[in-house]
Amino acid sequence: MPEIKVFSRAEVAKHNTEDDCWIIIDGAVYDVSTFAQLHPGGSQILIELGGKDVTEDFYGLHRQEILIKYAPRLKIGTIENEVAQVTMPVPGDLSTVPFGEPSYWMGFKSAYFNESHTRFRKAVRAIYDEIKPDAILAEDQGTYPSKELYMKLGEAGILASQIGPGPWLKGLKLPADIKPEDFDYFHELIAHQETARLGTPGFADSISSGYSIGLPPIFNFGSPALKAKVVPEVLLGKKRICLAITEPYAGSDVARIRTTATRTADGKHFILNGVKKWITNGAFADYFTVAARTEKGITMFFVERDDNIETKQIKTSYSPAAGTAYITLENVKVPAENILGKEGQGFQVIMYNFNHERWYICGAMTGATRVVIEECFKWANQRKVFGKRLIDQPVIRNKLAAMVSQLEAVENWLENITYQMCNMSYEEQSVRLAGPIALLKYQCTRVAHNVSDDACQIFGGRGITKTGMGRNIEAFQRTYKFGAILGGSEEIMADLGIRQAMKFFPKGAKL
Ligand SMILES: Cc1cc2nc3c(=O)[nH]c(=O)nc-3n(C[C@H](O)[C@H](O)[C@H](O)COP(=O)(O)OP(=O)(O)OC[C@H]3O[C@@H](n4cnc5c(N)ncnc54)[C@H](O)[C@@H]3O)c2cc1C
Repeated sequence: MPEIKVFSRAEVAKHNTEDDCWIIIDGAVYDVSTFAQLHPGGSQILIELGGKDVTEDFYGLHRQEILIKYAPRLKIGTIENEVAQVTMPVPGDLSTVPFGEPSYWMGFKSAYFNESHTRFRKAVRAIYDEIKPDAILAEDQGTYPSKELYMKLGEAGILASQIGPGPWLKGLKLPADIKPEDFDYFHELIAHQETARLGTPGFADSISSGYSIGLPPIFNFGSPALKAKVVPEVLLGKKRICLAITEPYAGSDVARIRTTATRTADGKHFILNGVKKWITNGAFADYFTVAARTEKGITMFFVERDDNIETKQIKTSYSPAAGTAYITLENVKVPAENILGKEGQGFQVIMYNFNHERWYICGAMTGATRVVIEECFKWANQRKVFGKRLIDQPVIRNKLAAMVSQLEAVENWLENITYQMCNMSYEEQSVRLAGPIALLKYQCTRVAHNVSDDACQIFGGRGITKTGMGRNIEAFQRTYKFGAILGGSEEIMADLGIRQAMKFFPKGAKL
């Protein structure tokens, strides 16, 4: 790391040749003589700026993380009597950009959140800030998270934080040392929002999705022995699990699945045959929670990976890092005690966790949508066109107003529903919240659709470019549809919401 000295602007101005090229960014001096040859935008553009203050050009063209990445190697000094104007984020920092955080963290009072939620949010964000460069790399290169990373996230309590409060948390360490008995759905909501804030949707699903839908059937319906073995392994990141229901023939219409499970003559095992499609994390999972059809009907099984299970990566529009798989089960032998719940009652097992899954998708959607809005604010403030900042154009302010008001509306509904989850039994939630959660999910993905559209327009070409300033906007517009399809498509959510409401329609109500 170079020694940091103090220079005058006049001194810096002399270093303006190809072999001796210094620039000033926000009161700091960088020696880019060697780096110029490696500059992705070409060396000439840098050399021409040698000796000058390039702060405005730099922030018009680069994300702040570029400076954070290269400063340790290139920064050689500061300008005398000048103070940096741009705040450098520290891991775990919360945003101070308007609407950059849910209102409680922007100084508003809340009926739901307290200081434990603030500590928790900061602790989770600090962990994610630390792994963010690796997450971005994995997203780009499509690599699966390593076992080491899984175990690191498991030990830090990040995995357990995304699975909901319950006895399965007992004895586990959680971020900010939140005691398992104090952990509530608001903490979990924060965990999902923070995962989405990474801005790397495929990678985020690789560390959050498979187990948060694959594990609940085990801890809710598995035998005590199965629970005791599998739950700690998965929550500590030692094993990876996924949920395998969908097939090429049956997506929304789960009842049409064709995978078969035939009991062996001695009654001790089942033999599974069939195919599963789009199974998140399936490409690298050790365990599979599988829906199959026995002579008594749809039944859920816990299945360990073996040579009779083939998993192939499916190319979707987000990163292969998610490990989305096509799975072939060919004569897979599963012990009868691996049935989750009762034989023939798999549909109830599948339905049992659906509310939670849909609610957590709402958390992820609002987290990702908020980052997009925060970036639009920053961009509109720093990008100059026709001699003005973008934010000075009324039409851009109008777009921001539309984005913010839609997000804040669903965020408030989400907080209200989360409060109900904290105060209703699981059974009551199933009866009373299925409809509202379905409608909330529908609205969260509609809002994402609108926000994505406006954000792309605000970012222009960068909104459809995978790297650089618009990276998060591009990723969002390519992937927000996942939330609109997975866990129940928008059409099904809307329909379910109203059908559920009609269950409570008073018979005597007339106009
Ligand atoms: C990336 C990815 C990851 C996934 N991960 C998993 C996983 O981990 N595990 C798993 O089991 N599955 C997973 N799925 C499957 C996912 O749950 C299904 O895609 C979803 O249930 C919809 O099924 P489908 O795609 O077959 O669409 P279909 O059921 O064929 O429906 C197509 C469209 O028709 C419309 N539609 C369907 N039914 C109705 C209706 N009754 N009324 C009105 N409109 C309707 C909707 O617009 C729907 O989007 C994943 C899918 C993807 C793409």
